[in-house]
Amino acid sequence: MRYDAAIVGAGAAGSMAAYLLSKKGYRVIVLEKNRAVGEKVCGGLVSERVIRLSNTEAVTNEIRGADVFFPDGRCVRIGGDKTHAYVIDRNAFDREIAEKAMAEGAIYRMETKAVHISEHRITGSADISFDVLIGADGAQSAVAHRFSMGNVEYINTIQGEARTFGEDRFVRIYLDTRFSPGFFSWCIPDGEKTRVGLGSTERGLRQKLDAFAAMISVDVKHAKGALIPMGMRKFWKENVVLLGDAAGQVKATSGGGLYPLLLAAHLLSEHFDDFEQYRREFMQRFGQELKRALLARRIFVRLSNDDFNYLAGHIAEEVELITRYGDIDYQSEVARAFIKKHPSLIWYILRKMAGQSFFSVCSL
Ligand SMILES: Cc1cc2nc3c(=O)[nH]c(=O)nc-3n(C[C@H](O)[C@H](O)[C@H](O)COP(=O)(O)OP(=O)(O)OC[C@H]3O[C@@H](n4cnc5c(N)ncnc54)[C@H](O)[C@@H]3O)c2cc1C
Repeated sequence: MRYDAAIVGAGAAGSMAAYLLSKKGYRVIVLEKNRAVGEKVCGGLVSERVIRLSNTEAVTNEIRGADVFFPDGRCVRIGGDKTHAYVIDRNAFDREIAEKAMAEGAIYRMETKAVHISEHRITGSADISFDVLIGADGAQSAVAHRFSMGNVEYINTIQGEARTFGEDRFVRIYLDTRFSPGFFSWCIPDGEKTRVGLGSTERGLRQKLDAFAAMISVDVKHAKGALIPMGMRKFWKENVVLLGDAAGQVKATSGGGLYPLLLAAHLLSEHFDDFEQYRREFMQRFGQELKRALLARRIFVRLSNDDFNYLAGHIAEEVELITRYGDIDYQSEVARAFIKKHPSLIWYILRKMAGQSFFSVCSL
């Protein structure tokens, strides 16, 4: 049988596309190299938009705010006034979407790695013909490589589990280059367990995680590594379309990819006859945000621990503003409001972009 769409990858992106397209009557097949759906390393921290777009029942916690820790030990609490985000059981989330896709008629072939891929046929452990190929095969997408749809950078991350400590309605974010140079470390409480992880532009993630766990006095188990793509690929080329991490539809500031991939899957199913319209509408709705996140990241990777300590003072002054404008999907709103109130930070940022540490400039 020839399928209207062959989807490589049964993660959230692949399964959401499978569900929406099958529901519209398309014949869809999903190929997944793993034995089971839902083996993903993910913090599972999402906005209300994700709950709405997925209709999920996999919510396990409601988050009222964030405690941001700086290298000198200061902590600034943001939020606390209402529910600002949700924690989901990511594996249950992926399974739930896959089950809905199967209920709509999508065929799933597990333990089937797409290796020999051409425009209209995948051969090897399966022999499948299709009209459209959807690469939803994650950060290191084989489909993107096969069809030369662009290269992206990656950030290395590691995440494990610890027993929940402290308040279970607040995530903790640690800005400290000793543990997470070029990124940040996090604790996301999920009932009795807390997801503890970090990202880094340097090697030695396991040692960094051990050092971080020792600093916060927790015992982290089951740690696993994963990559987050930084930058967008081409979204489509002839009859091949990318979705989710494969397309680089990820916020470079936080690594959050679930909202953009759900948005993209909905737009792709709406414009399945016009991939350029899928790309255009996604870029109109979220492209600017992703571009701003990439720019913010270029600044962020240059910040030292002295810079974080310096910024802590400004952040502590603006808790109300950050709580009001803070939005984990559209983070540029709060950055814009913050800079408007602290225009001297523009000068600071320009210095950073010129590659000089603010403190080395001051001490000249
Ligand atoms: C440590 C970490 C924490 C994160 N925390 C958050 C968070 O708190 N909130 C948030 O919104 N986002 C978070 N993210 C990002 C989010 O997890 C990703 O954006 C999301 O998982 C991407 O889903 P996807 O379906 O595009 O790709 P994936 O989930 O990677 O799925 C791709 C699937 O394709 C399969 N596959 C790959 N190659 C092949 C092949 N050749 N043949 C067949 N199958 C193949 C894989 O086995 C996999 O099942 C986090 C990411 C990491 C790494």
